Amino acid sequence: MNIILLGAPGAGKGTQAEIISELLKIPTISTGDIIREALKNGTEMGLKAKSFIDKGHLVPDEVVIGIVTQRLNQDDCKSGFILDGFPRTVAQAEALDNSDVKIDYVIDIEVDDELIYKRMSGRRICEKCNKTFNINTDKKPKVEGKCDFCAGALIQRMDDNADTVKERLKVYYNQTHVLKEYYDKRGIRVAIDGTKPLKEITADVLKVLRVEI
Ligand code: AMP
Repeated sequence: MNIILLGAPGAGKGTQAEIISELLKIPTISTGDIIREALKNGTEMGLKAKSFIDKGHLVPDEVVIGIVTQRLNQDDCKSGFILDGFPRTVAQAEALDNSDVKIDYVIDIEVDDELIYKRMSGRRICEKCNKTFNINTDKKPKVEGKCDFCAGALIQRMDDNADTVKERLKVYYNQTHVLKEYYDKRGIRVAIDGTKPLKEITADVLKVLRVEI
C-alpha cells in the first residue's frame, strides 16, 4: 500500500505515520526527518537545506525530489510506504506521478490554524530516537521531558518557534494547499478531521485504508 499523508505542518501527519507504519510494517519516508538527519551529520545537502528550514521555507524541489526518488528505490519500499511531508508543491507531486510509483491513498489530515499553533508550540521530539510527543495534547510523555521509549531528552524543534510556524503556515497556503485540488482531480484524496482526539483520528485513517485491528 503506497500512502501519502497530506496536511499543514502540525496537522499530526508524523504521529499517524508512526502508527500506520508499525501496523502495516511499511516504512515512513519523512522528508523533514531525512533533512534534519543530514543537517545533524553536517552533510553538504544538510548544510544547503539549513537556511531554508531556519526561515520556515521549502527546500528546493530538485533536492527533495532527489532524496525521495532515491529512498523509494530501496528494497524496503517494495511492499509499500508512507510519505510524510512529501509532496509539498505541484512540481513534487508531478515528479511522483512521472515515476513508476503508483499512489493508492492520499490521506489529508485537516485542522484549523488555531489548533496548529497550539500543537506546534507543544510539540517535543526525542533527541535520541526522534519519537514525537506533545505537551498540549493527549500525546504527553509519561515523565516530563523524557522519551517514553528510550528515556532520551525531549527538545523543541528550532522551526517550531512562533515566528517560523507563522511562515511555515504561509508557505503551506501558498504552495501546498493546492495539492488538495491536485489529488481531488485524480480522485484519490480523502479528508480526515484532524481536530478529533488522537485515537479517533487513527480509527478514521484505518477505516480509509480498510485495515482492521
Ligand atoms: P517537516 O518536518 O515535514 O515539518 O519539515 C521541516 C522542514 O523541512 C520544512 O519546513 C522544509 O524546510 C523542509 N522540508 C520537508 N519536506 C519538504 C518538502 N517536501 N519540500 C521542501 N522542503 C521540505
